[in-house]
Amino acid sequence: MNEALLSRVRGQPASSPCSHSWISPVFPAPRFPPDSPVARLRVMSQHASTSPHRIGLGTDRHRLEPGLPLVLAGVTIPSEIGAVGHSDADVVFHSLADALLGAVGEGDIGELFPDTDPRYQGLDSRRIVEEALRRVQLRGFQAENVDIVIELERPKLLPHRPAMRTSIAALLGVEESCVGVKAKTGEGLGPVGEGKMIAATAVVLLVGVLAVGEENTK
Ligand code: MG
Repeated sequence: MNEALLSRVRGQPASSPCSHSWISPVFPAPRFPPDSPVARLRVMSQHASTSPHRIGLGTDRHRLEPGLPLVLAGVTIPSEIGAVGHSDADVVFHSLADALLGAVGEGDIGELFPDTDPRYQGLDSRRIVEEALRRVQLRGFQAENVDIVIELERPKLLPHRPAMRTSIAALLGVEESCVGVKAKTGEGLGPVGEGKMIAATAVVLLVGVLAVGEENTK
């Protein structure tokens, strides 16, 4: 077990800048019964070579049409075109949620929030990420850092990158230095280049928070 995880086990802040607030501000530290999967994983991590890290990958894409809002990482981007979707069609949060779910083997957002369910029409996709984070925490993990690539021909996203990073960092409970957001155009090629589609890819690293204090196993 590495020093960073050991310091977590001892209930002390880890030295990594990406894990300074490893307890999410969205959800309190979970309490696990002694026979829960998380408690068992904790024992495994102390006595075997179980990795305290997980990696998740998520992608998303939506069609673009004039007159619709363009919401990215919960930030409304001034734009003449926006994404078509059942929810708010936020490709950043959708790819991020799928990355989080994938890292802990919890399926994908299509299963959790089917686009045929009228309850999710116009849904703020922040709720989708929060549900993914809840499942990550129940599995005994916490987001460490995330890197996201957005593919969009126009408008230019660089002016909006700080707001998107702030939004993602607050949701995950990490420093903004642990959130990468990059924008790429399609160079005029394909559906992205023709301005017909927006796409995003997210990679997330999780770290085990298997023992946040002895009280969590009681
Ligand atoms: Mg989507």
